Amino acid sequence: MQHVSTKGPAKCAICGEVETQPGSFPNVVGVGRVCLTDGMKKVKCEACGNEIKLLTSSKLQGRTLCLSDHMKEIEKFRQHLVTVFDEDNETAQSILSRAYSEAPEGYTLLTVRRGRNSTHVWEAEYEKTEVFQMRCS
Ligand SMILES: [Zn+2]
Ligand SMILES: [Zn+2]
Repeated sequence: MQHVSTKGPAKCAICGEVETQPGSFPNVVGVGRVCLTDGMKKVKCEACGNEIKLLTSSKLQGRTLCLSDHMKEIEKFRQHLVTVFDEDNETAQSILSRAYSEAPEGYTLLTVRRGRNSTHVWEAEYEKTEVFQMRCS
């Protein structure tokens, strides 16, 4: 277990420098807290090849990624997606058919249901098609 404490100064994950003011070192996902000198250093995104500041990068499964590639990777791991429709804007009929016809790429519609504690919000739940097929075969 990694214990993240908000109290006490953090140590730079790269050079080991200790911050002078608690909370002044920014956190880089997958790397840890880094000093500003290291944070401004350029790193290369391993997905698109763009040079980015370490500060705006993140590390996912050992790969350095820019923010947009990080989001894409995260998306790949997401097995479920929920899209929200509002009956105030369109009819339930239209929501139902749109939920089906506008399924995100690679996802299969599981269910369309009323949003919790709401009389006009609908939620369409999708499951990653590969997962869906695995479960159904
Ligand atoms: Zn440092
Ligand atoms: Zn990138």
